Order: sequence, then structure tokens, then C-alpha cells
Amino acid sequence: MRTKHLAGIRCRNTFIVMTDTVASAEPEKMRIDPRRAEALLSNIKDVQQRIQKLQGSRKVRLIAVSKLKPANDVLALHESQFGQTDFGENYTQELIEKASILPASIRWHMIGALQTNKCKPLAEQVANLYCVSSVDTVKKADALEKGRAALAAKQELSNTLRVLVQVNTSGEAEKSGVEPGETAALCQHIRDKCPHLHLGGLMTIGAIARSKQATTADDENEDFVCLRDTRDRVAAELGVEPAQLELSMGMSSDFEAAIAQGSDEVRVGTTIFGERPPRKDAKIAD
Ligand SMILES: *Cc1c(COP(=O)(O)O)cnc(C)c1O
Repeated sequence: MRTKHLAGIRCRNTFIVMTDTVASAEPEKMRIDPRRAEALLSNIKDVQQRIQKLQGSRKVRLIAVSKLKPANDVLALHESQFGQTDFGENYTQELIEKASILPASIRWHMIGALQTNKCKPLAEQVANLYCVSSVDTVKKADALEKGRAALAAKQELSNTLRVLVQVNTSGEAEKSGVEPGETAALCQHIRDKCPHLHLGGLMTIGAIARSKQATTADDENEDFVCLRDTRDRVAAELGVEPAQLELSMGMSSDFEAAIAQGSDEVRVGTTIFGERPPRKDAKIAD
């Protein structure tokens, strides 16, 4: 029987085990399959080129969404000549575990639906957590603030934790996110009451149906229009320039349309890493 090790840590979670089943003779090193690394590199370069064609004079941030993908995929891209630094995760526990075994030079983005009780541990345990993109209640903002304050009491932090407010632009009841009309109040709270957080802007996921209809750069997507309008209103209410509040919108199926509509940050998973296993098979506790 082969033992499952990763950087010397015995892992119970299958998200790491999936492709990191390394022989026990080599427990200290995370193995990177050169062919896998080459494929990932080629995929991400392709995405970056498509971004560059549309971004104009802006610099659009590319977040590689590595949820349910093994830690050595992340390492392969981070250590490649491309030097990808921004990675996105959806599940708190998976993010915390990957961060604990991967280089501190990675900038982690928590992009998934947040549970209030996971906010404090996330902010306190992951020093290189760069951004939480899915804040949609005052309680979650306060819990992140508490976690970051606790971490700041233990170690010097080079920057405040960036947060984005997630807006429910599609009006779907099952989607997380704050209503467009309530966004400014939450933004104001973060700015005025959370000194360890920095309000970076707004995020939306958008309706799946719409992203399937509007996939090319020429198609208008109502969710992206709504997020931009919401941003402009929030900026006016807060008395800041709209450009100070970034827009995080666009995924594999619609990132080009999102950039054409003003996105500053795209979150791309499948196009870089391939299809994900169903979450139930990955057995990830959150
Ligand atoms: C999974 C996910 C993505 C990436 O989706 P792909 O379609 O695989 O590119 C982007 N944003 C959020 C919030 C996600 O949950």
C-alpha cells in the first residue's frame, strides 16, 4: 500500500490525495508531473493572451481558481516561468490546508460562499490570505476583522486584508450576495468600522443562463451592467472615485465579455485546470 504524504504531512483529505499519492520513500517533496505542468502552463498562457487582447491600458488580474484541484497543480503554476501568484479557493478548509503546505508567496483569494463561523479562523490562520471576495453581511465583515486583528496582535502584517462585497446581481434567491440597493451600507461599514480590512471593490457571479448567452466580448451581460452601475452608485455615496472600487466579474465561460464590460479581475478555473471532480467525491469538509 502506498502512503499518502504531502510535504511531510499526512493528509486525510482526498483533494490532496487525488494526484499527490507519492511513494512513501519521498515524503518531503511535492511531486510535479512535468507533462501536467506543461499543460497547465500552456492553458494559463492562453487565458492571459485572451485577457491582454481586451484589457486595453488596464491591468486585469487573473485569479487561477484551484478549488478541488490538488496542491501540486497550484505549485506547478506558481513555480513555473509564468509565476502565477493569485489563486482562488471556494472552501475554507481546503484553502487553509493548501495554504499551510504551499509557499507563503502565493496570494490566496477566498471566492466561495462564506460561512460566518469560518470567517475568523480563515482570517487569523492564513497570513497570506490576500482577499476575501464574497463578503455579503456585516457579521461576516466583523468576523474577518476580528480574525485579522487577532493575527495582527501576533505578527506584523504588511497589508490590510482586501475584501470585496459580493452583490446578488441576478436576483436569484439561491445566490449569495447582498442586494444592489443594500451594497453601499455594507461597503460603508467595512470602510468605517473594520480597520484591518480594505474595501477593494465589488464581486458578482451572475446567472448561469446569462453567462451562456453572453460569452463573446461583444455581448452585454445584465449582471455585469448591474455590478458596474452598483459600483458607480456606491462610489458616489462613499465619495470616492469609481476606479478605487474594482470589479471582480468573469469566469471561464464569460471572462472576455466581463473584461469588455469593465472587469478588473477575472476568476478562471476550468479553462486552466480542466473539469473539476464533483465535490462529494472530493470529500471536502468545510
Ligand atoms: C468556481 C468559481 C469560479 C471559476 O469557475 P470556472 O467556470 O471553472 O472558471 C469563479 N468564481 C467563483 C465564485 C467560483 O465559485
